[in-house]
Amino acid sequence: MNNIRRGWCPSLYHPMKTGDGWLCRVKPPFAKLTSRQARFIARSASDLGNGFINLSQKANLQLRGFTREHIQQFIPLVKNENLCSPDALEEGKRNILISPLAGIDPSCHQDTMRYAQCIQHEIIENETVKFLTGKFSFVIDGGGLFPLIRHHADINLRIHHDQWILQLGHAKQVIPCNLDNCVKLLKQILQFCNKHNYFRLLHQDYADQFIRENSCSKQSYTYPTSIEKLSIGQFPHGYHLGIPFGLLHNQDLSLLADISDQYGNSTLQLTPDRTIILPYCSNAAHTHLKSFITDKQDPRLNIILCPGKPYCLQGMQPVMKDVKKLIRFWHSKLQTLHISGCAKGCASPLKNPLTLCATPKGYNFILHGRANDESLYKNLDLEEISAKLITYSEMK
Ligand code: SF4
Repeated sequence: MNNIRRGWCPSLYHPMKTGDGWLCRVKPPFAKLTSRQARFIARSASDLGNGFINLSQKANLQLRGFTREHIQQFIPLVKNENLCSPDALEEGKRNILISPLAGIDPSCHQDTMRYAQCIQHEIIENETVKFLTGKFSFVIDGGGLFPLIRHHADINLRIHHDQWILQLGHAKQVIPCNLDNCVKLLKQILQFCNKHNYFRLLHQDYADQFIRENSCSKQSYTYPTSIEKLSIGQFPHGYHLGIPFGLLHNQDLSLLADISDQYGNSTLQLTPDRTIILPYCSNAAHTHLKSFITDKQDPRLNIILCPGKPYCLQGMQPVMKDVKKLIRFWHSKLQTLHISGCAKGCASPLKNPLTLCATPKGYNFILHGRANDESLYKNLDLEEISAKLITYSEMK
């Protein structure tokens, strides 16, 4: 079951056919939207699509239910709102995930945005980047209240014990870097990929090879053992909102735009946890936030899922419908339950404590694995799953 091919990434210029029409991905630069841009997206989702917008794990927006003709109408409008690159090549290269609180949280390193801008400038200008796939990506993690430790791209720039480091994929040997040498290092890495025909750099071996061939100075990197995540709800620099199952309706997005104008700084920040931060939003907004998750104990925060059938053509079970029946049996406040519409596991490439993977006959039940891993039980129906969820909710 481990031979599932992970597909290409849809983009604005290369939309993807799904069970409810074409899916159109919008990548707001550094995952930030002004209230005006949010209203534009909400209006477009309603006028040109079916009104539904998924938040992605790359902090992008995926508008659903478009026709081919509507996509052609949409592209120039998105350009006009400065929400995309001018062409498909540049749009495909612009995969930079940055700490969502850069520039907002004083404990997030002050150079975080500058690193992101340097990288963005280089990948747009550098001709070598042409050969990279649309999946080649970057993480810029300045630490602070919303660290990106769990997120791994091909190239990761992280603050680590007050020192910036460059990490390739999941490597344990990393390269110290600073604003002066990071672009030079990036150029070397791109040449390295070009020379060896490497399209991704996630495997540890690539890092070792790169460091050896370029005689880079290196240091060991150990992951922090406990990482505190920013809680849902009010925090000193704004409001952190959970979005039920990462799915917004156009009216929800319009409402958030209005709230950010009235109570915040007229911007919305998307996060890779499929949540939204309203920077500097005051607690007075609370009464208007009923359609969102504002309680950190809400069990929906511990469930990750994809749209499944009928929204995705590969979906084998109606995940969005089934989760409503299963949610009351998942009592765990700590463990993540991943429900996947098929073995591709788009919603979470990570191993999760429990994964339910849809099959033509029900769901496979997988402990501590990914959607395409070996299952403990096969083809369970909802009743059988409910009974098991109660037991496994308590597992450590
Ligand atoms: S995991 Fe979900 S979204 Fe991905 S292909 Fe399968 S059904 Fe579709």
